[in-house]
Amino acid sequence: MMDKKTTLKIAIDGPGGAGKSTLAKSLSKKLGFAYVDTGAIYRTVGFAARERGIAPDDAAAVTAMLGEIKVEARFEGGRQDMYLDGEFLGDRIREHDISHYASAVSAIPAVRDYLFDMQRSIADANNVIMDGRDIGTVILPDAQLKVFLTATPEERAMRRTNELIEKGQNAVYEQILADIKERDERDSSRAVAPLKPADDAILFNNTGYTPEQSLAELLEIAKDKLGVSEVC
Ligand code: C5P
Repeated sequence: MMDKKTTLKIAIDGPGGAGKSTLAKSLSKKLGFAYVDTGAIYRTVGFAARERGIAPDDAAAVTAMLGEIKVEARFEGGRQDMYLDGEFLGDRIREHDISHYASAVSAIPAVRDYLFDMQRSIADANNVIMDGRDIGTVILPDAQLKVFLTATPEERAMRRTNELIEKGQNAVYEQILADIKERDERDSSRAVAPLKPADDAILFNNTGYTPEQSLAELLEIAKDKLGVSEVC
């Protein structure tokens, strides 16, 4: 455990499919930081709603559900595993349908309040790279480095399509593009913690970049801004 004041925090926010998790994961390995995927935490709440047959935009029902569920993130060997009521969820939270559930439940203020302490306490105990939508603006406004990562909707839809196909899941580009645009709109226009760059965020549009090029660029930014060096 480290002193609360001494932990280093890197916040990476941006829309779905911009490559946040790939980039944050590889950067965390290079710097020896813990990687925290906050989307996975919202996905777990979305998953819980789907399991119970609750409409994800039914704020009253979702809020009532929060009192009955236990959401846990466990970190092992650099991996973040999500558990719901003690059950390991694995890749079930990655199903395409769960993206919609996660996006809808995350617009409910009670859900964001419910998950706030969990995210904050992880960052107070470790050097972290945390990715999400409101990390630089709400969860870690004190992060020493904030990056807002984006790419065009078309490029993000293509990346997501290829990712799902690689995992053997069904993926139709046009449908994914439409879903991405819908999710962008909902995430950016919600009243609570909307997706937007923090005032002091570095804007990074990685359209046309390979994951390796994005990593190299971000690594330089982190070294420059935080004075950190690579551990591997
Ligand atoms: O990052 P990922 O696509 O897995 O996130 C799923 C959904 O969870 C997002 O569309 C967004 O609505 C929500 N989310 C959020 N705040 C975060 C992380 C994710 O609202 N910090």
